[in-house]
Amino acid sequence: MSENVTQKYEFKAEIKQLLDILVHSLYTSREIFLRELISNSSDALDKLRFESNRGTTILDADLPFEIKITFDEKKQLLTISDTGIGMTKADLISNIGTIAKSGSSEFLKQLADNKTDANNIIGKFGVGFYSVFMVAKEVVIRTKSFKMDEPAVEWKSDGLGDYEIVDLNENIKRGTTIEIYLKDDAKEFAERYKIESVIKKHSNFISFPIYLDSEKINTVSALWREPKSSITKEQYKEFYKFLTYDNEDPLDVIHVSVDAPIQFNSLLFIPKKNFDFFGFNREDYGLDLYVRRVLIQHKNKDLLPEYLGFVKGVVDSEDLPLNISRETLQENIIFNKISQSVTGQVLSYLAKKAKDEPEHYAEFWKEHGKYFKLGYSDFTNLEKYSQLLRFNSSNNEDANGLTSFDEYVSRMKEDQKEIYYHFGPSRAAVSVNPHIEIFKKKGIEVLYLYDPLDEFVMSSIRKFKDFDLKSVEQIDMKKIDKLKDVESAKPEFQELNKQEKLQFSSLIDKMKKILGDRVVDVKESQRLKDSPACLINNDEMMTSSMQKIMRMANKDSAPVKKTLEINKDHKLVRNLIKVFNANPEDEFINDTVEQLFETAQLLDGDLLDTHTLVSRINKMLEQSSDWYTTVKNIS
Ligand code: ADP
Repeated sequence: MSENVTQKYEFKAEIKQLLDILVHSLYTSREIFLRELISNSSDALDKLRFESNRGTTILDADLPFEIKITFDEKKQLLTISDTGIGMTKADLISNIGTIAKSGSSEFLKQLADNKTDANNIIGKFGVGFYSVFMVAKEVVIRTKSFKMDEPAVEWKSDGLGDYEIVDLNENIKRGTTIEIYLKDDAKEFAERYKIESVIKKHSNFISFPIYLDSEKINTVSALWREPKSSITKEQYKEFYKFLTYDNEDPLDVIHVSVDAPIQFNSLLFIPKKNFDFFGFNREDYGLDLYVRRVLIQHKNKDLLPEYLGFVKGVVDSEDLPLNISRETLQENIIFNKISQSVTGQVLSYLAKKAKDEPEHYAEFWKEHGKYFKLGYSDFTNLEKYSQLLRFNSSNNEDANGLTSFDEYVSRMKEDQKEIYYHFGPSRAAVSVNPHIEIFKKKGIEVLYLYDPLDEFVMSSIRKFKDFDLKSVEQIDMKKIDKLKDVESAKPEFQELNKQEKLQFSSLIDKMKKILGDRVVDVKESQRLKDSPACLINNDEMMTSSMQKIMRMANKDSAPVKKTLEINKDHKLVRNLIKVFNANPEDEFINDTVEQLFETAQLLDGDLLDTHTLVSRINKMLEQSSDWYTTVKNIS
C-alpha cells in the first residue's frame, strides 16, 4: 500500500475571521451546530436521491438513506454520519474551504459593523459547518463520494488557522462521517439526553431517519400531507420553527390540499416578523418544492412571485415527474399551474383575513406591507392585489389608520369619479399642504402616502375598478369644482370689485415679471383656502416627488418648472394689492413674491438652497419688529 501524503492548507482570511469569533466565544445558542450538521447531512442525502432519480450510477447503491449519531462520553466525542452524496478531495477543498452560506459573510459584516450581537443572529441564520467550532477542539471529516473510483479523504482541523487533508486507503462506504472532539465546556453534547433534546428541538422534521445509537428519534412525517384535522396547532408551530429557524410562532398558517385539476399539498406560513430585517435575506426566499415527498428544490423562487417572498413553506406535487430538472421547471405546464394556484391561495387567504379580521390584517400589513406593495407589476392578480393595498387617509384619525380602496370608494362623494392621493414625509406635512386645502373644503377624502414606493404603485396601477387614481397635484380643477362644498361658513373676504380685479391682474403680471422663467405661469388659484400661494405641477405624468426621485437617479438637480397659483382671498394677497396700488415698484412686493415662491418650492421639496430664503425672512422679521413696536407703542 502506498504512503499517502498529508497536505496542509491555510483557511482563507474570511474563514479565519469567522472561526476566530466562533472558537473564542461562548454562545448561548451554540447547540445549533448540531442542527447545521444534520441539515448538511440531509442536504447530502437529498442530492443523492436527486442523482439516483436521474438515473446516475451511484456507489454503494444498496446503502439506506440515513443519518447516524453516536457518542462517547469518556472521550468527549460526538460522531455524525450520513450515507449522502459524500465529497471528493476537490469538493472538500472547495466546499469546506470557502464560506458557502451567504448568511455567513453577512453575519461577519453585521458583526464588523457592530450592528448586532452575534448571539441574536447566530441561531437564526446559522453559519453552516463552521459552527461546529463553537463546541469542538478538533474535527475530523472522513468522506467518500458517490462517484465511482474516487478515493476516500480525511480532513482534520482544530479550527485555529489551517486544516490537513489526506487520501485514505481504507475501503470506507459512501457518505460522510464527522467526528467532533468536544471542548471541556461543551462535553454535555456527548450525553444522550442533551443530544436527543437538541435533535427533537431543531431537526425533528428532517425527512430522513436520524438514529441515535441505533434508535430512530425524529418523527419523519411529511406534515403537509396529513389531513388538516389530525394536525395540532403545536405541530404546525413546531414545523414552522424547524423550517424557518424563527423562534417566534407564525402569524398565519395556510394549509391547502388541491385535488383537481392538479393534485398538490401546500403548507405555507406567514412569519410575525419580516426576515429581511437587515436587508440581507433578500435572496433567501422561496418555497421548498417536493414531488411525492421527495425534495426537488430548496427555496424555489418561482412558486410564488417575489412580492410574496415573506411566505415560507412547502409545496408537494403528485403530478410532476420525480426526475424533473430544476432548470426546466419554469417551462413545465403543471408547475406553472401549481404556482398560479399557490399564489391565488395566498392572495385569497389574505383577502379573507382583511375582511373577517381587519386588526389581524393590519398587523400583517405593518410588517409585510412594504414588500407586498412591490406586487404592482403582477398583472394577472392586479385586482386582488389592489384590494389588499392599504394607505393612510385624511379620513383616518391618525397616521396609524389604514384605508383600502374599497373603503375609500364607499365614502366617495356623489359624482366623484376619481381617487385622490398626496405624497409627503408625514401626516403632519401632508395634511397642511396647500394642495390639500380644496379637498378639505369640499370634504373629499385624500389618501396620504408616506413611502415613495406608494407613488410608483399608484402610477403603475393607475386605476381601481372604474376610478382613476390621481395625485392632488394633477387634478383637473373643473372636476373638483363640480362637487359640493361642505363648509358653508361665510367667506372671510368680499368679492373683489371691478377695479380691484384689474389691480389684482396687474399684480399677477408684475409677479410674472419678477419670477421670469423660473415659473411656467402665475395664476389666480381656485384650490387654496388657508395658504397665500402654491406651485402646480404641469406634468400630467409625474408628481413632484416622482420627479425628484428621477432627478436623483439622473444626478440632475434642476427642479421642473411649475405654475405659481395665488389665493386672492388671503389677507397677505389683499394687502399686497393695496401696496401695489400705492406703488407698483414697492420693494415689499418683490420680497414677498420671492418669499412666496421659495416657500412653495420648499414645501414641494424643490428648493435647492435655503440661504436666500432664510436671510430674507430675517430681514422681513426685522422690519416687522419695527412695525410691531411702533403699533404697540413700545419704546
Ligand atoms: P451550506 O450548507 O450552506 O452550503 P456549509 O458551510 O454548512 O454551508 O457547508 C459547505 C458545503 O460543504 C456544503 O454546501 C456541501 O457542499 C458540503 N458539505 C457539508 N457537509 C456535507 C455532508 N455531510 N455531505 C456532503 N457534503 C457536505
